[in-house]
Amino acid sequence: MNQIRQFLCLLVLITGIDLRADNNTNAKPIVILISIDGCRWDYVSKFAPPVLSTFAAHGVRAESMLSCFPTKTFPNHYSIATGLRPENHGMISNDMYDPALDAVFSLRNGAARESRWWDGEPIWVTASKQGLRTACMFWPGSEAEIKGIRPDIWLPYDGRITNSERVQTVLSWLSHAESDRPQIVTLYFDIIDTIGHNFGPSTPEVGQALTEVDQALGELQTGVQTLGLESWVNYIIISDHGMTPISTQRRITLDDYIDPATVQIDFRNELIGLRPVDGDYEQLYAKFAGDHPHFKAYRREDIPEDLHFSNHLRIPPVVLVPELGWVINTQVSFSYQDKRGWGNGGAHGYDPKELDMGAIFIAAGPAIKKGAVIKPFENIHIYDMLCTLLDLQPAPNDGDHRLSGQVLRP
Ligand code: AMP
Ligand code: ZN
Ligand code: ZN
Repeated sequence: MNQIRQFLCLLVLITGIDLRADNNTNAKPIVILISIDGCRWDYVSKFAPPVLSTFAAHGVRAESMLSCFPTKTFPNHYSIATGLRPENHGMISNDMYDPALDAVFSLRNGAARESRWWDGEPIWVTASKQGLRTACMFWPGSEAEIKGIRPDIWLPYDGRITNSERVQTVLSWLSHAESDRPQIVTLYFDIIDTIGHNFGPSTPEVGQALTEVDQALGELQTGVQTLGLESWVNYIIISDHGMTPISTQRRITLDDYIDPATVQIDFRNELIGLRPVDGDYEQLYAKFAGDHPHFKAYRREDIPEDLHFSNHLRIPPVVLVPELGWVINTQVSFSYQDKRGWGNGGAHGYDPKELDMGAIFIAAGPAIKKGAVIKPFENIHIYDMLCTLLDLQPAPNDGDHRLSGQVLRP
């Protein structure tokens, strides 16, 4: 297909006849929503990757973007896609238990393909309902039927697919005839998060990984140009959360407070969610009574309002939230991690107000303002902006119109 595009470009140069896609004056805006998992707010200025830096300089970038709590992958990708906070879309963590369904969700048990876990309306469903073609090169939620709709094109998640292959796949979808071409495409990169966990944030290894993602984005930009679509494609580049250093010296062992056999642990590590096996929430909470130097214990209903993490049955009745850079787990899990040499890299999941949890937001393209830097904002506002950009009526959501005015050209 690239050869055909190159031939058409040559044809324009020689004859002036332009048969490329962007010669169609009716062509509609296209959005590529790109996630660089775990790309902290300061990585782009620190490592200065050329493609991302140019997008930022020529478009709009946020000083930082505020994630939802918990600052984890699935809750935040789905908040970005729906404009809803986790307590309102139900994807409250990467791992969770639903007492009404009596079922467990985890990234590895196939539950991500089941509709019953996904409330709200992601952007690809909104777009599809209003007649647009949609495609997902990975995104949490994209493998499930939601409100009876799937992306027109999607792939099962497979972390072994290289960055370049992901980009080439997106380009192959964009090369479809206009009637068949997706107008909203997601593209997901996991490597920065993985390297950040393994080596810690801001390490040379993270810099190297960012160079690799940047090269893939360069391939994408070149491919879009070759397809003649540069006048239509808008790049919205985000991350889901930041990353902070952790240490085996900063551990809280659950066994020091309770017998782990007396609870079901819904999620663990940077924060831990507990359900008492005997159902006595108050007695469990009492075990954590008083102040602790490096974590806070909450009943679900007492979790601070600004974290918006109370109003869902999947949020366990007792949640322990550690101080930034501390982790909570059982003795057994810590021993397991030690055997594998884990625990001295990076982590996320903490309060989104912590600077280290800040994410990136960079937008560039024909519909985007040029050269603006905007103040930190919450990621729940992206959905509304995507709807404005694509001329869609948004579904009810927790965000508002503030970002459209700051990012989009009038
Ligand atoms: P986290 O534990 O919050 O850092 O999650 C990051 C990890 O989530 C990535 O390294 C992937 O392994 C995994 N992941 C990301 N997207 C998906 C997906 N769509 N389906 C399954 N796993 C995913
Ligand atoms: Zn993530
Ligand atoms: Zn991660």
